[in-house]
Amino acid sequence: MGSEKTGGRGGVGRRTVLLGGGAALVGTAVLARDELRRAWWRLPGTERKRVQGELDHKGAVWTAAARANWRRADRPDDYVIDRVVIHVVQGSYATALKVFKNPGHGAAAHYVVGKDGRVAQMIRELDVAFHAGDRSMNERSVGIEHEGFVDRPQDFTPAMYAASAALTAGICARYGIPVDRKHIIGHVEVEGTDHTDPGPHWDWDRYLPLVRAARAKLS
Ligand SMILES: [Zn+2]
Repeated sequence: MGSEKTGGRGGVGRRTVLLGGGAALVGTAVLARDELRRAWWRLPGTERKRVQGELDHKGAVWTAAARANWRRADRPDDYVIDRVVIHVVQGSYATALKVFKNPGHGAAAHYVVGKDGRVAQMIRELDVAFHAGDRSMNERSVGIEHEGFVDRPQDFTPAMYAASAALTAGICARYGIPVDRKHIIGHVEVEGTDHTDPGPHWDWDRYLPLVRAARAKLS
């Protein structure tokens, strides 16, 4: 999430509209057509079984996003996962969970990381979360939201960086994603977006080495 309204503590309604990057613009007709197209070539019985509450990231707490805010998929078999997209909520951890559970919101990320280092998983990695405001980027990426505001560097705590780096390292390990700035990007770097998160205070020079170190421990 996050927007160009970096100082924007204005109307709650206005901010709510900005959260999540316009995924709601994708019409249901387009989604239905996509489901049909994929069903055409999908072999019967290949869809993986899902277990309620099952996690991709050890240490995360499962709390489900509203069904309207993501699309069922079978990644990485139907879509290659080769990007991690870093977001900042423009709000609290609780706010992120609340809006992602709201079916009217039209957007949600796979994960939310708190200032204290806690991690919520809200959507399975095999499914497509509506977090980047761009359909093909959503299909190829895992989205991570971080509690805080883009204009408040103090929100990005050591505990948050460490927890987020461990999470991203695990994602990179699972899908063979290189740990670099081409593959781990900010929402601001998604083509055509008007969102600015994670903003200038997100310390990439600090974050990438943390991801690399965590990744090395996994291999
Ligand atoms: Zn964002």
